[in-house]
Amino acid sequence: MVNILIARTHTGELINLASASAQGRIAILKEQHRFYCPGCGSALILKAGDVKIPHFAHLSLAGCDKSSEPETPLHLSGKTLLHQFFSAKNHQAELEIFFPSIKQRADVLVEEKFALEYQCSAISPALIRTRSAGYSSIGLSALWIRGISEAPKEGIAPMRFRAFELAMLQESAGHPYLIEYHPGSDRFFYRSALFFVRGAIWMGKTKALPADRQAFPFGVPKKLSPTEFAEVASIARNERERFIRRQQFAKNRYRNPYWLLCYELGLDRSRLPTYIGVPIRGAEAFGMEAVIWQLQSLADQAKGKMTLPAPASPEESARKRLVSDYLEFVAKVKSRYHAEDEALELLYAIYCKTV
Ligand SMILES: [Zn+2]
Repeated sequence: MVNILIARTHTGELINLASASAQGRIAILKEQHRFYCPGCGSALILKAGDVKIPHFAHLSLAGCDKSSEPETPLHLSGKTLLHQFFSAKNHQAELEIFFPSIKQRADVLVEEKFALEYQCSAISPALIRTRSAGYSSIGLSALWIRGISEAPKEGIAPMRFRAFELAMLQESAGHPYLIEYHPGSDRFFYRSALFFVRGAIWMGKTKALPADRQAFPFGVPKKLSPTEFAEVASIARNERERFIRRQQFAKNRYRNPYWLLCYELGLDRSRLPTYIGVPIRGAEAFGMEAVIWQLQSLADQAKGKMTLPAPASPEESARKRLVSDYLEFVAKVKSRYHAEDEALELLYAIYCKTV
């Protein structure tokens, strides 16, 4: 069910249920008016109860935006507060703007240029891309903000991302980050400095930004400090140890990549050198454990398979860059008395190279 906050009455008046003037007279509005969707023109019903924020619901969605987010109290309060945020900062902002040519309704249209989507529910990553492409086809930039009902803990930690959240990532200087907005505390949360671990697990930094300290265009996250990077490296070490321990009990060892690669490189399976399984940004291009792609890089190097074919896709060129950064790092570590600190500094330098 697609619900909205703004409707047109049968006399042509626009009613915004989030506005103060409407909130005091919902019962009267409901009794005296019929409502229509400003986008598709179809009939709406005004729903107001004790639990849900008052909103308009479509009776038929045939001509309207079918793929927009189902309304929940979180979504309604979030987009209302975000709309107020832009207005308070003197940016032109309109709530719930429907674009008939693409049949999409943006939660907030900012400066007639940015279509803000406040996304609270899980949808398919393909739908995120389709909606972004829809906006782009009419000259708008999609701006995705993840809606959250609970404020996350700040700091460097492992975190989980679902596929639709990854599809919502924005980029600054090649580094992806996610912006979340928590209406309960009127704060933005940035998830940045994201390092892939495995599956849905990543490591990264969570930082709050109160709405009154946020600007528009939105602030971009700062790069990690050496101390913060050391925390990432420490989490990476734990994840690495856990992975190596799990491999000791692997079934079907003759087909287990960890066992095969350790054998090929003549390494002790229970004690890998510390330069294997290190955190390097962008490893999601491999989609596998750091230990595995790094062992594989070393094995390929040992076999002289250093001449990779010309990169055919962005992923392939990303992998190529990771492998060359990694092998360069290993060569440096091996050429020195590799104090832990020195390895950490080298890894931090790789991280900084692209920020
Ligand atoms: Zn409609």
